[in-house]
Amino acid sequence: MPASQLTDRIDALLPQTQCTKCGYDACRPYAEAMAQSHEAINRCPPGGAAGIAALAALLDRPIALLDPDCGAHQPLQVATIDEAHCIGCTLCIQACPVDAIVGANKQMHTVIADLCTGCDLCVAPCPVDCITMVAADHDWTPALAQAARTHYQQRQSRLLARHHENSTLAARTLANKAELASAAQNDTPAKQQLIADVLTRARARRNKVAP
Ligand code: SF4
Ligand code: SF4
Ligand code: SF4
Repeated sequence: MPASQLTDRIDALLPQTQCTKCGYDACRPYAEAMAQSHEAINRCPPGGAAGIAALAALLDRPIALLDPDCGAHQPLQVATIDEAHCIGCTLCIQACPVDAIVGANKQMHTVIADLCTGCDLCVAPCPVDCITMVAADHDWTPALAQAARTHYQQRQSRLLARHHENSTLAARTLANKAELASAAQNDTPAKQQLIADVLTRARARRNKVAP
């Protein structure tokens, strides 16, 4: 079977949350690694034991336990934004691999729950910790996986069209607060001050309402 065809068949078995927990930038690169480099089949926590069994059958490999280094399998969660504390910085939008967050600069943001894959990549970049993962009221289905794949591909195409330099999605999605703070150091002093003021106000407001 040609490698691209095998990759397609492997990719069809992956959950398409694009969470990067397998250690790859998204589901498709992990599928390519399994097809081309004999990568392990037990690195996808969202797929869990059922996903590993399906991959083992397709690739004629022994079933293995989920690699704990990649995380644990758990019921679907979705992100929710505490809009009262959101400062509209847009970092979560930049991190979301499937365009499940809407909002504009300096305006509150919100999650479209039906599009959210539960990847949790938006949580760490939020500078005011106003994004929480909560239990979803639905299961992850093949139809949702297909929709997530489409949204991911559309986003990738848009990013490639806008950013010709090789600024990887992973660089943003794996961003943490320290990296973001360091990136802010490279910004203009006026903008740095603005960000600092906004964050100070947001934290003060949060501390005031905290129990
Ligand atoms: S769902 Fe997450 S862990 Fe599984 S293949 Fe896709 S990106 Fe990797
Ligand atoms: S809203 Fe957050 S958890 Fe949901 S898909 Fe986007 S980045 Fe992932
Ligand atoms: S990262 Fe947090 S503060 Fe920034 S827009 Fe998203 S939810 Fe709002």
